[in-house]
Amino acid sequence: MAEKLQTRCVIAGGGPAGIMAGYLLARAGVPVIVLEKHADFFRDFRGDTIHPSTLQLMYELGLLDQFLKQPHQEVRELRAVVNGQVVPIADFTKLPTRCKFIAFMPQWDFLNFLATRAKEFPDFQLLMQHEVVDLTFDQQRVTGVRVKTPRGELEIRADLVIGADGRHSIIQTRAGLERQDFGVPIDALWMRISKKQGDPQQSFGFFERGKLLVLLDRGDYWQCGFVIPKGGFDEIKARGMQELQNSIVSFAGFLRDRVAELDDWSKIRLLTVQINRLRDWYRDGLLCIGDSAHAMSPAGGVGINLAIQDAVATANLLGEKLRTGPVSVNDLRQVQARREWPTRLIQAMQVFIHRNLVTGQTSQRKDSLPIVFRLLKWFPVLRQIPARFIGIGPRPEHYLNRGR
Ligand SMILES: Cc1cc2nc3c(=O)[nH]c(=O)nc-3n(C[C@H](O)[C@H](O)[C@H](O)COP(=O)(O)OP(=O)(O)OC[C@H]3O[C@@H](n4cnc5c(N)ncnc54)[C@H](O)[C@@H]3O)c2cc1C
Repeated sequence: MAEKLQTRCVIAGGGPAGIMAGYLLARAGVPVIVLEKHADFFRDFRGDTIHPSTLQLMYELGLLDQFLKQPHQEVRELRAVVNGQVVPIADFTKLPTRCKFIAFMPQWDFLNFLATRAKEFPDFQLLMQHEVVDLTFDQQRVTGVRVKTPRGELEIRADLVIGADGRHSIIQTRAGLERQDFGVPIDALWMRISKKQGDPQQSFGFFERGKLLVLLDRGDYWQCGFVIPKGGFDEIKARGMQELQNSIVSFAGFLRDRVAELDDWSKIRLLTVQINRLRDWYRDGLLCIGDSAHAMSPAGGVGINLAIQDAVATANLLGEKLRTGPVSVNDLRQVQARREWPTRLIQAMQVFIHRNLVTGQTSQRKDSLPIVFRLLKWFPVLRQIPARFIGIGPRPEHYLNRGR
């Protein structure tokens, strides 16, 4: 017999969407249990970007000062090296936000920080090594989740199940929610190379003839993301490790003396990139948010921001009602109605970037800058557009329950 628990809201997934939703709902007085299948937050396959809009939210929640005491880098201008030329892409210094920068912070530090603050609320519980394996139903209504734990099976009944379990979401599959997939022509290889004194001081991206290398500063190592054509990993393996090492060095010459650390394919992870979106993000008793509702590609580095904005909208729209009882399908529909068009817009931008800048004709010409980058180089004022899009995004959400 499975152990049984009862709560108001159960959240599958302790990523940015799940932890933020859990924090905000518990702060609003809603009993909430967040389930994370891993034992810790140390996943290296997530981005490390905390956007100005998220920092604004931290300020509204009264957490900003403590948050900024965590080790991080503040990046006020994003630059890329495009076909050998340094191009300023986004200028955050003019944003109408309290913090006019992106904070680069390993995502496990961000999640640990937020989870620690959330545990200060008596209504919050985070259960690690708890993997949701199925949903439970009463006719058409979702009534809870079945969970695999180190101690055996657990069943949690709740008035609302939130799917925040990322781009390989079991919740959306088990709920039978229909999904639209948008073709993505790229995947990413994800690997670590050590950092040394004298290396450049910040995370950045190199872009050349349709190839892209991103380096994230993780303190004592670089987290490297190397974009490859979708399905192209076997061909890369067939060409040999040396060729991959050479490609990396051709972008970032300072890695020449240590690229040989990549001496085995087991050190290189293939991350499949997807863009998709659910037609309905909800059904009776259940709501999906973040990548579980709309998987984002790394293009533009905006998926984390969007996941957090979904969580804020969820707490703003449902928090008060959930405190006293279940929410209706109509309430859940309102969350999708609020977050759908910002999601559509950002995904359309990601599809555009993939088609035109990463794999398209404009990206293939040697030594020339695609027109978008030339415009950004010539007209500094234009850098405020990507800054706004990346740093704040369309329809930013704000914390509304200021009383708590
Ligand atoms: C290679 C790559 C690089 C990226 N870089 C960036 C970037 O720099 N900036 C940016 O903004 N976005 C980036 N993105 C997009 C970003 O990672 C996502 O949009 C974002 O993480 C979505 O947050 P989430 O909370 O919805 O899901 P996730 O971050 O995927 O979190 C889901 C959580 O649920 C847990 N989980 C999964 N299944 C279960 C289960 N059955 N039971 C319990 N727990 C479960 C997972 O372990 C995970 O902790 C990148 C994406 C990729 C693929």
